[in-house]
Amino acid sequence: MSAKPLTLQEALKQTFGFDQFRPHQEELAEGLLSQRDVFGVMPTGGGKSLCYQLPAVCSQGCAVVVSPLIALMKDQVDAANANGIRAACVNSSMPNEERLQASRAYQTGELDLLYLAPERLSSPGMLDRLHDCPTNGPAFFAIDEAHCLSEWGHDFRPDYLFLTELKKAFPQTPLAAFTATATPKVAQDIESRLGLVNPVKVRASFDRANLSYDVRQKQDLEDQLLCFLREREGQSGIIYRTSRKSVETTAALLKSNGIPAQGYHAGMESTERNRVQDAFIRDDVGIIVATVAFGMGIDKPDVRFVVHCDLPKTIESYYQETGRAGRDGDPSQCLLLYSPADSVKLRRFHEEIPDEQERRRNLALLREMERFAASPSCRRKALLNYFGEEHSEENCGSCDFCQGEYKELEGTRDAQILCSAVARSGERFGVTHVCDIVAGANTQKIRDNGHNELKTWGAGKEKPKKHWRFILDQLLNRDVLQFADDGLPVPKLTDTAWDIMKGKQPFLYHQDQRADSFKPDTKKGENIPCHAGLFEHLRALRKSIADADEVPPYVVFSDKTLRFLAATMPQQQSELSSIPGIGTRKVESYGDSFLNAIASYLAENPNAAKDKSTLQSIEPKKEPQSSNKPKGETFAITL
Ligand code: ADP
Ligand code: ZN
Repeated sequence: MSAKPLTLQEALKQTFGFDQFRPHQEELAEGLLSQRDVFGVMPTGGGKSLCYQLPAVCSQGCAVVVSPLIALMKDQVDAANANGIRAACVNSSMPNEERLQASRAYQTGELDLLYLAPERLSSPGMLDRLHDCPTNGPAFFAIDEAHCLSEWGHDFRPDYLFLTELKKAFPQTPLAAFTATATPKVAQDIESRLGLVNPVKVRASFDRANLSYDVRQKQDLEDQLLCFLREREGQSGIIYRTSRKSVETTAALLKSNGIPAQGYHAGMESTERNRVQDAFIRDDVGIIVATVAFGMGIDKPDVRFVVHCDLPKTIESYYQETGRAGRDGDPSQCLLLYSPADSVKLRRFHEEIPDEQERRRNLALLREMERFAASPSCRRKALLNYFGEEHSEENCGSCDFCQGEYKELEGTRDAQILCSAVARSGERFGVTHVCDIVAGANTQKIRDNGHNELKTWGAGKEKPKKHWRFILDQLLNRDVLQFADDGLPVPKLTDTAWDIMKGKQPFLYHQDQRADSFKPDTKKGENIPCHAGLFEHLRALRKSIADADEVPPYVVFSDKTLRFLAATMPQQQSELSSIPGIGTRKVESYGDSFLNAIASYLAENPNAAKDKSTLQSIEPKKEPQSSNKPKGETFAITL
């Protein structure tokens, strides 16, 4: 066994090929190296794996990583191996022989990282057997996706509960927990269940600076979607739909329009699901149309967009799902297309929940989501506020609201008409009926209740019913009108509503200027300009190497690394190690192939050489750093 003399900074460069830590990585890795427990709450793409992989490379002995997704464990191990880290995994899906081989490597001290499924760790005698190695136990334990421990989280897994035993069995061994959960309640639960002792604790900002948010109403969904996708040919993306049927319809729509896509939902055979997931990770298919069953633990770093074609159930799930875009830090887009009809469907679904408390909780969460979608304000700020974080910038510059797509209008008169219809009908009728009163509809329900006799009946008949529904939604979203606690969609008046009716206060709202058309944003390009032809050439080489090695292409090089190569066009090995994402091992394994590919491309396309950039001219743009901080926490940004 070789000694491990590397410092964290050296390992960052030599093993991973990165020059700077992302926020908090150093603090957490340093904690583990100095034998402390650590707890990292960081968003997806925050770079959690480096927090335990770095100290594993730099310390004596092997770190044991508990990770819930057996299907993805092999990819994690392959990615570590490609960087020269001695990693292996043990889980129930492996042949016996491979399991034995991994155990033997652990016992003889030939591993830096051992990935275990939770069910393995809890198997009889396993904890005892972990003592059986040259260091008499693991260097430390790292629990990935630690929110699976909490019943408050959305991915609770009973087999994670065994982890509460770890601290008792290994009181002296540092324990690290990592999660991307944003809710403080779950975080607290994890900490106490694991029994972490005075941990180095970090809650990173949940701002995903490289993601841009766009929220708009569904007009013609098919048109909107196709238009969005046509601008993004060749990119990887996930399209979420709520039902299996709509997954199938949308996937068929894309295929019939020549866009390579595959459907994924829980109703499919598990082998078929795995096949689709694999095809996505390996870049054999660019787009997955899926229910929310898809995505947890997908490490694919270069997902360039996430589209929601229906209103998600909660802001938390919307945040987690959009978070699967842009882990590599490159600009990526999150588009939400929603309609009031989505809310009606979800509401109906929730209203059938027999347990009253759960029903109310779900309806309240849905209400927050509706409000987020339909009352335009900075999307980033709204998301971060939801998780108790302040965003310091007035204009985030990359959401539909901040990009000035909305116009502020005065709607006092319309608000008065609607509020008065609510008052005169006794605050007992649903949104559709209230709009019917104002629009002067002559329905059975209107006649039965004598509402055609009301003073407000038909007071707004010169405007379409759609307009009244829109204004009513705005009143609800701004809490001028509120649904009662029972969650039924029956609007009630608030003090503000009375003030508006009495003319004491105006009512202002925002109108989406894009309402009738869908012009996809083309401003957001890649953040590293490079020679497109060479990039494609290198991408093809990456795919062929990945297929030959049976690993996902991102394990070979990330898109960002490819873009750096296609921009700087290196000609010698010595130039490679200054490219982000190329550590010592990757220079050895892939360096020559890529240098040859660059040389042959330049020989065939001599004009391409004039697009060559220097590293200095592109490097400052490489890692977008979030500009805001959660209150009272410090950032360990090494610039
Ligand atoms: P998480 O598990 O928090 O979602 P990962 O550990 O998968 O995030 O990292 C996301 C991506 O960011 C990976 O592609 C990884 O290589 C990259 N990354 C991590 N740390 C750094 C860094 N310090 N500099 C550049 N890229 C990084
Ligand atoms: Zn914004």
